[in-house]
Amino acid sequence: MSAGINHELNQPLTAIRSYADNALSFLDMGKTDPVNTNLREISGLTQRMAKIIAPLKEFSRKTTGQSALVSLKVVRDGAMSIMYGRLDKANAKIEWPPRLDQVFVLGDTLRLEQVVVNLISNALQAMEEQEQSDKWIEIGLERQASRLLISFRDHGPGIPESELGKVFEPFYTTKKAGQGLGLGLSISHRIIESMNGRLTVANHPLGGAIFTISLPTADASASTAGLE
Ligand code: ADP
Repeated sequence: MSAGINHELNQPLTAIRSYADNALSFLDMGKTDPVNTNLREISGLTQRMAKIIAPLKEFSRKTTGQSALVSLKVVRDGAMSIMYGRLDKANAKIEWPPRLDQVFVLGDTLRLEQVVVNLISNALQAMEEQEQSDKWIEIGLERQASRLLISFRDHGPGIPESELGKVFEPFYTTKKAGQGLGLGLSISHRIIESMNGRLTVANHPLGGAIFTISLPTADASASTAGLE
């Protein structure tokens, strides 16, 4: 993990140093135009470094380790208030299971919301090239003993089998430069683990990727009453 961050930060840092050194040389020669350009480059690079560092606070944020009862309805409403505009713009549909007000897991509402936003956002990006009728995310619930499985299936191209093991690695990304840093899923994985849960990935036999969050439930009968 730290090797990856090192690499990501060292590149812009090296570039900043050479832009700054060059700017000094130009100043010595009394040429101010290239100094202006170099300073703009430096400013852009520091913004890029800030973007790399920002999500990392999730890794260091201390958790109390205490889980509370989390309503999936509250998580859905929170995530949808963030994603509504993007789903609408992409003309994509999202299907949530009914009666979420009766479904609870043990965890942390805001952190779970963050993971759900990340999964929906990835699903949307994966479906960008699909036909309109295929821009569709299905969310499923399944009870397994004292755990609840929340699955997110999209109708995008899925993930090549050889890459399935890599998507949770920090800085793994197939997106164009500037579109993704490859940190979303590794952070999501860690967040779910901090709630004593698991985040897994698979391909659906009929196409598309499925990400599944497994979390402990409070009381197996009460917490999933909405599923019966
Ligand atoms: P980023 O979105 O910045 O690339 P992530 O960690 O969120 O970082 O995702 C890592 C990679 O996993 C993506 O670049 C993409 O290749 C793959 N991926 C994630 N979600 C999906 C999905 N729903 N369908 C296909 N590929 C996906």
